[in-house]
Order: sequence, then C-alpha cells, then structure tokens
Amino acid sequence: MATTVAPQMQNSVSEFVAKPRKMLIGGKWVDSVSGKSFETYNPATGEILARVAEADKADIDLAVKAARRAFESGPWPEMSPSERGRLLWKLAELVDKYHEELAELETLDNGKPVFFSRIVDIPTVSDAFRYYAGWATKVEGSTIPISAPDAKYLAYTLREPIGVVGQIIPWNFPLVMASMKLGPALAVGCTCVLKPAEQTPLSALRLGELIMEAGFPDGVVNIVPGFGETAGAALAAHSDVDKVAFTGSTEVGKLVLNAASGNLKKVSLELGGKSPNVVLQDADLESAIPASATAIFFNQGEVCAAGSRLFAHKSIFDKVVGGVADVAKSFKIGPGIDPASNMGPLVSKEQQERVCSYLESGAKDGAKAVVGGKRVNGPGYFVEPTVLVDVKPTMKVVREEIFGPVVTAIPFGDLDEVAGFANDSIYGLASAVWTRDISKAHLLAKKLKAGTVWINCYHVFDSALPFGGYKQSGWGREWGKPALDLYTEAKSVCARL
Ligand code: ADP
Repeated sequence: MATTVAPQMQNSVSEFVAKPRKMLIGGKWVDSVSGKSFETYNPATGEILARVAEADKADIDLAVKAARRAFESGPWPEMSPSERGRLLWKLAELVDKYHEELAELETLDNGKPVFFSRIVDIPTVSDAFRYYAGWATKVEGSTIPISAPDAKYLAYTLREPIGVVGQIIPWNFPLVMASMKLGPALAVGCTCVLKPAEQTPLSALRLGELIMEAGFPDGVVNIVPGFGETAGAALAAHSDVDKVAFTGSTEVGKLVLNAASGNLKKVSLELGGKSPNVVLQDADLESAIPASATAIFFNQGEVCAAGSRLFAHKSIFDKVVGGVADVAKSFKIGPGIDPASNMGPLVSKEQQERVCSYLESGAKDGAKAVVGGKRVNGPGYFVEPTVLVDVKPTMKVVREEIFGPVVTAIPFGDLDEVAGFANDSIYGLASAVWTRDISKAHLLAKKLKAGTVWINCYHVFDSALPFGGYKQSGWGREWGKPALDLYTEAKSVCARL
C-alpha cells in the first residue's frame, strides 16, 4: 500500500484541518454552547484529522432561531428571485475557484480517491448550485379555471417557501449532499440548518465560508456539525422547523420521521438501497462488465444506489462474474489522497467492521468469495472489493444494504424470473438493465420497482434528473424540478370578481 503522505496537497487544506473548526450560526463562526468538540479521523490512516465544535440541542436551537429570523425579517425575504439566483451562481463560481482545495478536503475526510473528488464530487456541487440558480426565477403557480355556478372567480396558486428547513446529510458524498439539499431550498427562498455527518463535517464547513463570501445574508444558511443521536435528533424534532430533509440509512430515516411527527413538519427522505443490476443474455459485455464493477465499487460501494445485486443470465453468468472479479483485482487500493489510488478506505472503523461482519455472515451462510472477502491489513479502514456467488435470496448479504464494496451475483433464466428477483427487496432506489434488445430493455424498465432505471449505463446522475426511491428507499424526489416542490407550499388564492 502507498504511503499516506501527499506532498502535492494544498497548503490551504493543511491549514484548514490544523485549526479547530467552529459552527456557523447567524453568520458567525461560534463554539458550541457546551464548549464541547469532537475529532474527525483520516480513514486512510486512522489518525486524527481535525477537531470540530460539537452541536447539541442548545446549538440547534440557536441555529433554528437564526434561520427563523433570517426567514421572517432582514434582507432575505426582500430579495428578488433573480438576486437569489445570482447568489447561488456566485456560490457555484466560488466552488469552482476552490475546486482543488475542496476535492482534497473531501478526500481527506471521507477517504475517496482524490481523482474522483476532482472529476465527480466537486463539479457536481457547482453544477447543482448553477442548476438551482436558474430555477430561482422560474418557480411558478398556475391560474385555475373554477366552475362555481354562483359568480365569477379568479383563482390561482402561489408557490411559497416552506420556511426553516433542517437538512441532515450523510458522509458518502458530503459536499454533493449539501448542494442537493441547499440548492433547491435557497432557490425558492427557504432558510437552512444543515447538519453534516459527524464523520465528514469539513467540506460543509468550508462551504459555509464560501456561502458567506458569496454574500448570503446572515442566518440564511447555518451549519451545525454534531452527532446524529443528539444534534440530528434535535433538528428533526425541533418544533420551529417547518421541514426536514434527510439522506441516510432507512433505519435512521424512520427515527427522523418519528421525531418529525411532533409538529408534523414536512419530511423528505432519501434512504437505503439494494439495487439490482441486470445483465441480459444479449448485452454488450464489453460495456456491461466494467460498468457492473463500477456500479458496485465506485466510492468503495458507499453509494445508496450501488448496484449491489448483480443478476446475469445463466448462459453468461461465469463470464460476467469473472470479468467483474478481474476488474476488482486490478484496483489500486490506497489512500485517497494518493492520485494513483482508484479505491480508497471506507469512511470509518465502524463502517469497516460493519462491512466485515456482513462478509463473515455471508461466509457462514455458504456464500463464496470469487475475489476479496476480507479487510486489508494495515492502518486505515480498507476492505477488499468482493464478489460473492453461491448466494441464496434469504441470505443477509442479499437482503440487507451493506454499503461497502460487496456485490452478490445471482444467475437467472428469463425476464419474469429476474424481475421477480430484482423486486424482492424492501428497497427500490435504483436499478439497471444491460441488453441490445430495445423492447426487453423497456419491458424490464417498466417492471422494476425503483426510482431510477439505467439502461446500458450505471451511476448516471444529473442535477436535472429526479432521484429518489420506491418502497423503503424514501419519500419524495430530489434533484430536478421535483426538488423545488419539497421546499415550497402551494397556496390557492380565490377571488370573487
Ligand atoms: P450511517 O449509519 O451510514 O452513518 P446514518 O443514516 O446513521 O448513516 O447517518 C446519516 C445522517 O443522519 C448523519 O448526519 C447522522 O449524524 C444523522 N443521524 C444519525 N442518527 C440520527 C438520528 N437519530 N436523528 C437524526 N439524525 C441522525
């Protein structure tokens, strides 16, 4: 394994992590009310990376008060849509300006290869802010012809910002998640309290600095790092929060939903997945095999939409499985900050243990690892990319979300059979079909119960393309136009003429 030293790392990144980081409340960088702070770790080494102020109930309360003030009074509610759009555009420009710094920070905190932070994460963030900058001036209601017989009426709808929103995000794409939550909320005029994951708060805190530099009024965006059970729970339960948007595990999503019930705040949830990736007999295997490997191994498999169940037609099963295993063997596993690494560590010791416990459970149940199957010895939280065969639909490794570089491979006979296998899950986030037969592709796309169906591709995301889940994968759709609905209320106005 390569060393963890990254001589080319930006000075600004070393300086950022060296200084204890505060939280952003009401436009000011402050310590926590309790004075407590916590450490984040470099997943490539297991060493302490940074120290961050630890938000708890009292800090969440201050942040919500600041967001409420900014929503009700001051410059933000007076701003025109076009001014809000300009601020978002400016923020996108700042993200581009500090692209390298943000990419390195994301990699140090999360572990992902810096190559991907550079070409995927950070460009996605600036694109999301630009995309929603464009929407700020285009959030419209309708005029509605109504049929009441007694008189004439003019009826129309307005879309108004929902108010103060709590946004709780995970650690797998920290800055992307922040942008997909903040972009639509700010475009429509909400104010935000963003809680990054305790494992990866750094890029959100740097984004907070850029938000202030862009000129957003104080209190419009508040950033409160802290733990889920304390800060996250307090935000989800807060009686003066109008909406909570959550991305994370299905288990925690249910807790957020319960916490939100106190004041019946609006809730949107983007949760787990166990997405089927289906390779039909006539697929172009030169594309399907490497893409099926990317489907599961991209971001160390820490992707809610990861293609973690690979279904290949029985006539090509061995070839597909062998091909995906060969790709796994070719990975250069190492610290993400080393530009040569194309697979990094998992985010935390806890996650490494969680994934390894699934590997043990699979082995105990009789699954066979064609490649991988264990942790990588040495410092850091690395796990080998793993392909499991001889799996049964009842096994935990097939049913539960592992959130790591582990794919289960299962042969099938015909379309109906594979549709049944694919839909046999509590999840329904994403799916994919590989075939040269256009009819089969669309027939299967219709049968799959998932929020996204990729045909002859995988992991294609776009700010404009709605994303979200069927079944226990979530409520609502983020990205694209539907995300605007998550942050607005519709008001019907009816005037007798
Ligand atoms: P993981 O288990 O993969 O770490 P989680 O779903 O636990 O993912 O975490 C996603 C986000 O949810 C993080 O910001 C985390 O702090 C937060 N979180 C965890 N538990 C709770 C909770 N009980 N209430 C609100 N937020 C929580």
